[in-house]
Order: sequence, then C-alpha cells, then structure tokens
Amino acid sequence: MKRFEFKKSLGQNFIKDENIVNKIVSSASIDKDTLVIEIGPGAGWLSKKIVPLSKNAILYEIDTRLKSVLDKELSFCNNYELIFTDVLKADICNDIRKYDFKKLYVVANIPYYITSPILKKIMYEIYPDKIIIMVQDEVASRLAAMPGTRDYGLMTVLFNSRYNIKKLFKVGKNSFVPVPKVDSAVVEMVKDSKYEIKNENFFDKFISDIFQYKRKTIRNNLKGYDLDKISLILDKYGYSLSDRAENIPVNVFVEIANSLS
Ligand code: SAM
Repeated sequence: MKRFEFKKSLGQNFIKDENIVNKIVSSASIDKDTLVIEIGPGAGWLSKKIVPLSKNAILYEIDTRLKSVLDKELSFCNNYELIFTDVLKADICNDIRKYDFKKLYVVANIPYYITSPILKKIMYEIYPDKIIIMVQDEVASRLAAMPGTRDYGLMTVLFNSRYNIKKLFKVGKNSFVPVPKVDSAVVEMVKDSKYEIKNENFFDKFISDIFQYKRKTIRNNLKGYDLDKISLILDKYGYSLSDRAENIPVNVFVEIANSLS
C-alpha cells in the first residue's frame, strides 16, 4: 500500500485505526448465516475481519488498482466475491440470488461523495436486515434524529419508517488515511416492520412533499392533499396543520399516509 495514490474523487479515506475496525466488526455481529455486502472495500482492512465471520460476502469496489492488495489481504478466505464495478450500477438483487443465507447485512465505510444514492440503493433495492455504515457525522445525526430537532427531516423519516436507527460512535478525522476534512460516525440500522406502510410509493412522495420547504407549515407544504383528513389525525396526537413537519413523529406520518393512500 505504500505507493498507493489515494483518489480524492473516489472518496478514498481508508480506516487506519484498528480499534475502530474492531468496533465496527463487533457491532455487526456477523455469523455463519449471514451474507455480507461491503461497499468500497478499499485495501481490505475491514473486509479481512468481516469476510471470515460471514457465510459469504460480496465486495463492490470501483477501483481496479486495488485488486492485487485485496486478493492478497483476503487470500486466506474462499467465501467471498469481489466485483469491480460502480456499486450504483450493480444489480445487487441479482448478484445475491445464487447465495443461500438467512440474514443479509450491509457493512461499509462508504465513499462520501455518493452517500445519498448509496443509502437509497441500500434501502430501496437491497433492503438488508441490518446496516452498519460509516457516514459523515452530520449524516449520522440526521439519520438518528428525534422529532423537534434541527436534524430531523426527510431522510430521518424515510429511513426510520423502515429501520431502527442508532448512532453508535463518532470517529475522528485522524482515524483515516489520508485525513479527511470531516468527522465521521458509525450508524446501526436494524430492519423493523413495526410500521405497516400500505403504499410505499405514496408514503415516500407524501414525506418528500411535507418536507419540501422546511420552514413552511404542513398546510402550506401539502396543497392539493385532503387537509381535513390530515388535520383529524394530527389533532388526535396534539398537532395541527400549522405545525412544521419537523415536529411530527414517524408513526403519525405513517397513519396519515395510510389513511390517504
Ligand atoms: N473500506 C475501506 C476502509 O474502510 O478502509 C475503504 C473505504 S473508502 C472511504 C471508500 C471506498 O469506496 C474506496 O475504496 C473507493 O475506491 C470505493 N468507491 C468509491 N466509489 C465507489 C463506487 N461508485 N462503487 C464502488 N466503490 C466505490
């Protein structure tokens, strides 16, 4: 790895702190029933600890210069598949089809320049049982935010309606090589079906409309919706159309969307 030229354009900040790697691995609780997907294995510093614990692993890496180092780091394992491609273009559902597994996990220190598309791909396409993911600290705060706080928004609701989310721990810049500009954090998301969303497409559209302008009231963001019906449900929980979406808990959004769809 000594002469490796890190590409900023590919978000290449590798974790050099072994304690952090170990903490990520132990939070994932991977076992021999688990198929693990890793996005951006880099030089394999995380991969070489998660692959041997798993039943199988599929690693998606865009940078083919990392092939020899990954082959070497993982030479003691034969239960993984290394796919050199842009993960956003990968047909992951098809790639996992040939494996037999009880649990599907995503474990990754992702490239931050495509955080949003990666998170969306994970939730909408892969929909794994568990996600252990390193993201920018501010993204972690948004994912795990509580209603009524500045960080609570569209992303919080979309993910919390399907996953139980915890920000596990912060990771300082100096744990990476090269040192990035931002701090990071590891987030745990565990699939949760406590909310029964009747129509997923409608729900997502409704949530993106209600959060369209953060400073506007629900009434003003939801022109064209059945406001009387919405008002009745809000009222039941002590809210009104004059509130902002950032104050409303996920269960209330689900109930409203289900009643409208
Ligand atoms: N997992 C390694 C670690 O923790 O040390 C590396 C993490 S580094 C933040 C992100 C990795 O994602 C890099 O190896 C980079 O080459 C890879 N990457 C960047 N864009 C990608 C893409 N579109 N598809 C797949 N991998 C990508």
